[in-house]
Amino acid sequence: MSDTLSNILTTCPYCGVGCGVRASNAEQGPTAQGAHLRIRGDDAHPANFGRLCVKGSALGQTLGTSGRLLQPEVNGADCDWPTAIRAVAEGLQQTIAEHGPGAVAMYLSGQLLTEDYYVANKLMKGFIGSAHVDTNSRLCMASTVTGHKRAFGADVVPGCYDDIEQASLFVLVGANMAWNHPVLFQRIQAVLQAKPDAKLVVIDPRRSASCEAAHLHLKLRPGTDVLLFNGLLSFLAQQGKLDQRFINLHTEGFADALASAQLQAATVEQVAIGCDLPLEQVLQFYRCFADETFSLTLFSQGVNQAIDGTDKVNAIINCHLATGRIGKPGCGPFSLTGQPNAMGGREVGGLANQLAAHIDYSNPAQQALVGEFWQAPNLVATPGYKAVELFQAIERGEIKAVWIMATNPLVSMPQADKVKAALAKCPLVIVSDIYQHTDTLDVASIKLPALGWGEKDGTVTNSERRISRQRALCPPPGQAKADWQIICEVARAMGFSQGFNFANAAEIFAEHAALSAYQNNGERAFNISALAQLSAEQYQQLAPIQWPVTDSNPQGMARLFADGRFFTASGRAQFIALRQRGLTQATPATPLWLNSGRLRDQWHSMTRTGEVASLMQHRPEPFVSLHPADAALYGLSEGELVQLSNASGCLLLRVEISDNQRPSELFIPMHWSAQFASQARADVLFAADTDPISGQPALKLSQVALKRF
Ligand code: SF4
Repeated sequence: MSDTLSNILTTCPYCGVGCGVRASNAEQGPTAQGAHLRIRGDDAHPANFGRLCVKGSALGQTLGTSGRLLQPEVNGADCDWPTAIRAVAEGLQQTIAEHGPGAVAMYLSGQLLTEDYYVANKLMKGFIGSAHVDTNSRLCMASTVTGHKRAFGADVVPGCYDDIEQASLFVLVGANMAWNHPVLFQRIQAVLQAKPDAKLVVIDPRRSASCEAAHLHLKLRPGTDVLLFNGLLSFLAQQGKLDQRFINLHTEGFADALASAQLQAATVEQVAIGCDLPLEQVLQFYRCFADETFSLTLFSQGVNQAIDGTDKVNAIINCHLATGRIGKPGCGPFSLTGQPNAMGGREVGGLANQLAAHIDYSNPAQQALVGEFWQAPNLVATPGYKAVELFQAIERGEIKAVWIMATNPLVSMPQADKVKAALAKCPLVIVSDIYQHTDTLDVASIKLPALGWGEKDGTVTNSERRISRQRALCPPPGQAKADWQIICEVARAMGFSQGFNFANAAEIFAEHAALSAYQNNGERAFNISALAQLSAEQYQQLAPIQWPVTDSNPQGMARLFADGRFFTASGRAQFIALRQRGLTQATPATPLWLNSGRLRDQWHSMTRTGEVASLMQHRPEPFVSLHPADAALYGLSEGELVQLSNASGCLLLRVEISDNQRPSELFIPMHWSAQFASQARADVLFAADTDPISGQPALKLSQVALKRF
């Protein structure tokens, strides 16, 4: 949408808040691609109402051709597009002919637009016949997906951002919103200022920037969230604070869930000891939650990135179901997605355990609908490998061709050194990216230049199910193309001429919307049937809208479950009976616990934000934060270099001494790649341990040794 030719509305490409951005010409003339743009928040966008954080405000400085991959390359030589497309198509065909379709994989990204995701998923799961399509969203939100599906029967966020203004208690679990979802955090801060009785409780093993605004910080022992929320469920029952009517009418499994919670968390004292928290703090939290109907529990990676991430999600949801605080204004469990389009990828089936349009592999009749709609010659029937399994299959030599798009797994995957070794011996590594060098691009045999933010056109979906347009602000640099174009050209070169003749992103979106509506009589959560007939012009003008968008709800829906009906077979929400897992003990060889996370001014592996001088000023180099007691124990001073190591690898970092940490627990930022600091790739120190239900890696907890460098 454009007020004038020089005033374009688009969406920020960083976090899952999905802020609306207004780009216009600056008064000074252009100096480089994008440098002439003035970036502001979009006053009318319902996510941010004009606000932007530091990263979003600096978006104009990230545009340009410096460091960009501008031309395709095959085996180290520049080439034209026809040569590159032929090389990809022939390479995939040869792999399939020799080893079968299961030898081919794609690894996608929450940075892709929904339209890119849609055609990639369709090509692999309907035409090539390989289910091995996974995404870096697996590292981010997979445990929430499985938690939602267990409780609600579908992967849906029940509420909306407007609930913030209507809530009076905010519980942040494993989420440093002040840095990672800053604009939403500003909305919470505004509520705290406007309502004297409103409260913020932060549950996090470290004191983060979000704690500065908190009334209570529970600095709990890492990995004890299930115990804490099981304790809350027990407390609510003891205090007569349950919504028994809601439980009776709209849920199943409450008695088992409560009995299971009471086994380990019958008393607040048991919880306080298990979570290593002062009794009074636990009581204070429980009383706050019990007494405040308008309570929002917002959670993010600290919940998801754990071997029991799905259980943590359900432990939170159990408490909201028990109090009937769901589907109503100002309350609910609220998953904060990390990436701008983690949700859009989920909508099209961009996870190895989903097929498409929120249809998974559990219902053959629904699967058949997808095959029929796509007229797919090779529809897959069973799930593929999730991210960690996918790279392990490459290491075993089972997967022999992988196409990686818009992500940098050599930095972000656990055991990143092993992933690097696996890719080094993979016969065909194709990487689509916007940059000339990333850790992953540097091991690719075929490099495909893609369009980046400000150049491409399509849609993303934010944490509140809101679909927003990203619009092109600048012309394509060099020979770069949209990911969907590259994928469709490869599909056609492989002989799949039907099904990939899209002229533009609007046509892909229309097909995606039509699939969501195909014989969907309301039994599937994801339904945007009212958008299936959009013309190219209507798509161009599409205003942000929350799915589902149907004939009965043409303006979308802010909240789901208001009628108490869920997407399970019985129509009732499911309580999940949960037990806190036993905690791993530290070993003498690796006596310290390591946590990782994001910094305020950086994004992912810094490929974009690392180029902006002002953003680099916040924390210019990687560091390890440790408690003063540990500094004394190891005889360390501020700024000294130390080596962290374990069986997976080692890192070299500068010491920051801070009582934000619990003793024996360290924190490192996750962003640095070999490109920016040769020995600071955080994820080399994290084992490939995953949640058995979601397949999400436990990137918040590892054991390490520390020594002076
Ligand atoms: Fe972008 Fe997130 Fe900042 Fe909004 S809060 S401007 S979406 S990084």
